[in-house]
Amino acid sequence: MTDEPCQCSDCQRFYREHDRLIREFPTLKQQQELNWASIQSFRTLCGKVTEDLQKRLTYSDHKVHKSCKDINIFTNEELEEAINELENINAYLYSIEALMERIFDIKVSDKIETKFKEVAGEIAPDPLNIDRLILNRLFHQTPDFPDKKN
Ligand SMILES: [Zn+2]
Repeated sequence: MTDEPCQCSDCQRFYREHDRLIREFPTLKQQQELNWASIQSFRTLCGKVTEDLQKRLTYSDHKVHKSCKDINIFTNEELEEAINELENINAYLYSIEALMERIFDIKVSDKIETKFKEVAGEIAPDPLNIDRLILNRLFHQTPDFPDKKN
């Protein structure tokens, strides 16, 4: 028996996104830039939210919050808990960024980049490509293949 990959909607969404990122960023350089930008944007957003929550915590300490309804949405406990979690995430992201920097420094020749594109096309072909559609139809008609729901 072969291990069938999970077909729940979350996993399917992941497979689609995974393949799309290979299809749209098929070279080493593009993958480096994509992942660098993704870590940076993640870090920027988490950092800004943490800063904002810390400010709210300081305000509520000084009881300024009584004049501002918006700040009352969070209790101090909620704020502290969220700040702790986000600080953990930021620390992990910082470590990932240090490793990504090493990966980012590596360059390969155009010949190798061509190989990347070639393999990308094989493992994540355009789902709307006619060959892929025909292949999918054949695949689903194969009688000894276990039934796929949906
Ligand atoms: Zn799943």
